[in-house]
Amino acid sequence: MINLLENISLKKFNTFGVEARTRYFASFTTYDDLKNLILSSHPAERQHLVIGGGSNLLFTKDFDGWILHNEIKGMKVTKETANEVFIKVGGGENWSDFVDFTVEKDWYGLENLSLIPGTVGAAPVQNIGAYGVEQKDAFVSLEACNLITGKICQFNKLECDFGYRHSIFKGDEKGKWMVLNVTYRLQKNGELHIDYTPLKKFFQEKPFNQISVKALSEAVKNIRRSKLPDPEVMGNGGSFFKNPIITKKAFQPLQEKYPDIPFYELKDNKVKLAAGWLIDQSGWKGKSMGQAAVHDKQALVLVNLGNASGLEILELSNAIAEDIYNKFGIQLEPEVLIL
Ligand SMILES: Cc1cc2nc3c(=O)[nH]c(=O)nc-3n(C[C@H](O)[C@H](O)[C@H](O)COP(=O)(O)OP(=O)(O)OC[C@H]3O[C@@H](n4cnc5c(N)ncnc54)[C@H](O)[C@@H]3O)c2cc1C
Repeated sequence: MINLLENISLKKFNTFGVEARTRYFASFTTYDDLKNLILSSHPAERQHLVIGGGSNLLFTKDFDGWILHNEIKGMKVTKETANEVFIKVGGGENWSDFVDFTVEKDWYGLENLSLIPGTVGAAPVQNIGAYGVEQKDAFVSLEACNLITGKICQFNKLECDFGYRHSIFKGDEKGKWMVLNVTYRLQKNGELHIDYTPLKKFFQEKPFNQISVKALSEAVKNIRRSKLPDPEVMGNGGSFFKNPIITKKAFQPLQEKYPDIPFYELKDNKVKLAAGWLIDQSGWKGKSMGQAAVHDKQALVLVNLGNASGLEILELSNAIAEDIYNKFGIQLEPEVLIL
């Protein structure tokens, strides 16, 4: 089914809850409907943006084009062996519901990604990650519709070029595709990842072999609920900035100056820093500018105190980024897509 609307508010379609309008809004439940719309409108006249749950977007102005909202549903086991399950999931399915489904089945692979807002279609675009796991770890392939030709193309893991909160769909192929469905490979007897400090602490009393997929998923949910604001209560887009990655050489003088600076060693002589720590150290936690604020428990999350505009939130983020650059010489990059 296709649902076409004109000049509507996007407030309920973005988790920041900011006001912006779109000229056209079309939601689809099937590939055929999407293809018909693509073929009936001239590509050159069509500025478009695909959205899912709007949980990683900041609208700073009205959108003068087509918002394409993916509502393609369905979950299907396409292959099952003694050890593995391959499951194909519609791009419009809610990510957190999908993870809950796999956890209930006791399948290993996605439990650390419990409760991340948004849709399955956006998960590979963003290469979402949490608590030491990224969706790429269980990813097999996806099918996407080309937004100019309407044709379907399959992308395997290599072709997606996954990186930290990155994929080809945020790089060379940005804006060209709508992800229709994604196939994941889950294990029936897999390995649990509890290396992250908050998880280690959570399970410190429990022997490792007594931790189940479900228990790990519940632990992740508990930790997330205690640290992150619920967008239903306070508008936000999760982590506003990416954790910066710098060379070891650039890191050395920082470590000498700030011996407590948290870091995570990567390959290729690189180091990942915690953007939240840099922001917290600079005194921004809990600070507000108008109706936009830095969350008082998690400095990486910017929140809408009630009636913030997208521009207000953008101005706050710019002020933070400038301050961090002046203090640490590090340029913060937004994780949220600013429109
Ligand atoms: C409270 C909170 C906590 C969060 N925690 C995490 C976290 O722990 N880890 C993490 O990685 N992220 C986190 N996020 C960010 C967000 O949940 C993810 O980026 C999520 O994948 C966005 O999904 P969405 O459907 O809302 O995408 P949208 O915000 O609607 O879109 C995001 C991007 O994906 C594109 N897109 C969306 N759907 C499709 C599709 N079907 N085909 C092609 N392109 C598409 C859009 O064009 C846009 O570029 C959090 C956000 C919030 C609000």
